[in-house]
Amino acid sequence: MKKHYGLIGHPLGHTLSPYIHRQIMKECHIDGTYQAYDVPPDLLEKKMLSFAKRLDGFNVTIPYKETILMYLQGTDQETQIYGAVNTVCSGRGYNTDAFGFRACRVPLERRSVLLLGAGGAARVMLYEALCEKAGRITICSRRVEQANQLIAETRQYYPDADLCFCAKEELGHDYDVVLNATPTGMWPHCDGIPVSKEVLLGAEYVFDAIYNPPASRLVLAARSYRIKAQSGLSMLFFQALEAQKIWNPETDFTQLSVLIQQYKLKRKLFMTFPIKIVLTGFMGCGKTTVGSALAKALRIDFIDLDVQIIEKKQKSIVQIFEEEGEPVFRRLEREFLTEALQEGKAKVIATGGGALIDPENVELVRKKQGFIIFLATDIENILSRVGDAADRPLLKGAARERAIELYEQRMPVYQSVADFTAEADGPVSDVVAQIRGAFDL
Ligand code: NAP
Repeated sequence: MKKHYGLIGHPLGHTLSPYIHRQIMKECHIDGTYQAYDVPPDLLEKKMLSFAKRLDGFNVTIPYKETILMYLQGTDQETQIYGAVNTVCSGRGYNTDAFGFRACRVPLERRSVLLLGAGGAARVMLYEALCEKAGRITICSRRVEQANQLIAETRQYYPDADLCFCAKEELGHDYDVVLNATPTGMWPHCDGIPVSKEVLLGAEYVFDAIYNPPASRLVLAARSYRIKAQSGLSMLFFQALEAQKIWNPETDFTQLSVLIQQYKLKRKLFMTFPIKIVLTGFMGCGKTTVGSALAKALRIDFIDLDVQIIEKKQKSIVQIFEEEGEPVFRRLEREFLTEALQEGKAKVIATGGGALIDPENVELVRKKQGFIIFLATDIENILSRVGDAADRPLLKGAARERAIELYEQRMPVYQSVADFTAEADGPVSDVVAQIRGAFDL
């Protein structure tokens, strides 16, 4: 008999749950439907009665994870600790977020943990960290009273837990594991980062509950430092799988190809919520070659701003500089960058070496779901690639000395604006692999 499942929340926006559940059901031969129901608070009680009759099971999301408890006949033990439900089956509430987080295998035992946020996801991560015998756990959230309440409630279950609150401005950089349980950095506000990059410096592992974009700025910063990092996508997938297991205890889920499903999910996410991968770096660092190879590998568009400017003006960049001056070139660059960022498709954008030296351009990229990738290259390598610099207007004249001077001026700027730094002295395929790895794509 056909089964019917759903998700209730408000507002629901672009939820991935229907996609994930339908894929799991399809692959595991469960004959069923899964619909998202956006239920405003004044209709919750009425809708609950009809869902209980009509649906074989449903998921619950923000803002009803706690309120739903009053409509249920009971919960499992884990849910009582979390005080929140995300799955309902036969009138009973379950919380599968903990299962999802556990499945991500974040190393917690004896680690000092920094937990960002003090809401529902933070509570799940906190209890998991305690179950895994983490060391000191520092909670950082904007509202100190919310964090203190979480600490007080946790002490009821774990009286000896080593817990403390720390304000964002006071954070050090000696945490082994950093867990983000705030929405900062979530699409479309991808420019957000919950803590400064420096906080990650001593870490061995970073976990971000955010699953959209595929790699948040926090995850990219960690990967730039070569710290292992994971986004919340696996957690999302495994909490959904666990819900399906609760609803369909007779089904054999071992037939599910988890890796293929996760790959499809990443791809779906990437195409539905487009991000822009914006390459920066010194002249000759390979932005055009790497950019076009990366776009080809990801099957998305590639835009080279310098090529667009040359085509529009029907002049080389040297000619534009000589005949019209640098300000005209920079204005065109801004225009084309703005246009490239407007269109709603995922793409790779190669910028000229000076484009992201301008903070306004950086701001523009960040506001439009753009991530800045710095292709770091050695100056000697650049000099051998650039040759006599005939087509590089800023190098005309004393090429070598001028290049070294410009390189030294620009390098710190590239480093400070970059969301991820790729070592770009090696083969193109290697650089592409680094960037794909950073985004998990
Ligand atoms: P929540 O209960 O609303 O808690 C959010 C926490 O983040 C609160 O402590 C809040 O406290 C803090 N916060 C909110 N906005 C902030 C901002 N702009 N800057 C800094 N802190 C902020 O939400 P939740 O259910 O815990 O979810 C948190 C995040 O985890 C969401 O992005 C959600 O999508 C994600 N999540 C992912 C999964 C998964 O399967 N991957 C599962 C659950 C949740 P203050 O307002 O005081 O700062």
